[in-house]
Amino acid sequence: MEFSSRARQRHARLAGDRREQYPHSLQFYLEPPTESISLVEFESLAIDRLKLLKVVENLGVSYIRSTDTYKTKLEHELRKLKFPYRALAEDDYEARRKDHISHFILRLAYCQSEDLRRWFLQQEMDLFRYRFNELTESLMQKFLEHANLSFEAISEDLKNELCNELCASTPGFSLSKVKEQMFYKVGLADAVDLFRARRVFIKDGFAYVPFKEIDVIVLNNYRTKLSKALALTARSLPSVQSDERLQPLLKHLSHCYVGPDYSAQNNTGKISLEQIDALSVKSFPLCMRHLHRALRDSHHLRHGGRMQYGLFLKGIGLTLEQALEFWKKEFIRGKVDADKFDKGYAYSIRHNYGKEGKRTDYTPYSCMKIIMSNPPSQGDYHGCPFRHSDPEILKQKLQSYKIPPSGITQILDLVKGMHYQLACQKYFELTHDVDDIGFSLNHPNQYFTESQKLLSGGRELKKELSNSGNFQHKNNSQESMNSNSTPTSSNAAADTELEGLEAYFTED
Ligand code: SF4
Repeated sequence: MEFSSRARQRHARLAGDRREQYPHSLQFYLEPPTESISLVEFESLAIDRLKLLKVVENLGVSYIRSTDTYKTKLEHELRKLKFPYRALAEDDYEARRKDHISHFILRLAYCQSEDLRRWFLQQEMDLFRYRFNELTESLMQKFLEHANLSFEAISEDLKNELCNELCASTPGFSLSKVKEQMFYKVGLADAVDLFRARRVFIKDGFAYVPFKEIDVIVLNNYRTKLSKALALTARSLPSVQSDERLQPLLKHLSHCYVGPDYSAQNNTGKISLEQIDALSVKSFPLCMRHLHRALRDSHHLRHGGRMQYGLFLKGIGLTLEQALEFWKKEFIRGKVDADKFDKGYAYSIRHNYGKEGKRTDYTPYSCMKIIMSNPPSQGDYHGCPFRHSDPEILKQKLQSYKIPPSGITQILDLVKGMHYQLACQKYFELTHDVDDIGFSLNHPNQYFTESQKLLSGGRELKKELSNSGNFQHKNNSQESMNSNSTPTSSNAAADTELEGLEAYFTED
């Protein structure tokens, strides 16, 4: 965020007044923020939290959560994005404020459907778990009191009386360890996870929970509160959505992809039509490979497929003239004659390239947009195969692409856990024979760029796809955080315009 010096002073005064709002770096987010913020700040805070949650998702699937690598990488990201990363810090008011406000903005954006709620809840839980476990014992105690979760510690006499039962019912606890640790008497409803896993001693409707397991209770409590809050927020959505400034922002955030804009590429014209078949096998993500195959087989794609695939091809470098030739050649091999193509389809292709209508230069779709909106119906080939295909059909497709059985199992497990982009990353690793792709996949055109970079040892990328390199560079600077939010605004505008554009695609 950029503030002028006067604004900074005013902000500092405000900050002083509000500091007591955040006695801890860790929050249960019980009270929504009440201060006024600009739309620009609203968007920038939300984008940063979205970036953080995407990293949380990625790390959660790639590493075991208790490992040092997981913790180090997550701390690095929290520092980089300026969120509270160590609960001991006394002077992180700005970070705490950002944490608070951004959580509530994404709560609004991600309460809109069951899928979104589930995703948001999972990432927020993982983030909370990491932060809570990073607290020292005394800070944990303080936080529990602050969150009204101050459970009653049992007396030494009672502990001695129950020590055999506590030792037998608490896995990993010897008699001496029982004597060392504090045990808390917790209502059964709060300890249901421990009870289910038979990891706690129960007596007279109370669970006797050792301090080291208290995170399970706290997380359980947090999950319940956040689920309820999301359901309540969803109910109040109609009134929020009636605000015409917020509605497009929230809609866009829930489909939001945080990364470079692939609409304007320096690689335009660097790809020949003859290369596309080979590229579709080597460097296209599954969604685009699927669309390309369907187009070659049936010499036609319906409107959703033409939009998704057409904009992707534009993003990888097809010029307007090439696009017109490519689609026409294929369509006239089917049921559409040249005249019908020129009248019915050429206009929409020119429109995609900003040469008709409002002359908007349309942006290729991000993974989030493909995954979250416009699911394919029968006869459609667009969408994300990891999200929209039946698992059995996906399995057969992966087998036909020679993915090894162990890889297919890993992909299907990720799909089952609704980690569609991570499943796609795994597909990338398996088809490119690398152990770790080293980037977080957000966009089909990013997949293509990274694939080309890998296959050509990085040389061609510099020459052909230098635009992507620029974005990488920008992403590493503070400037990029601001510049990243700008394409998002323009993406939001483009999304709105795309809806208008869809009217031009009435012909299937
Ligand atoms: Fe395409 Fe993204 Fe799905 Fe991969 S995750 S198949 S790139 S939409």
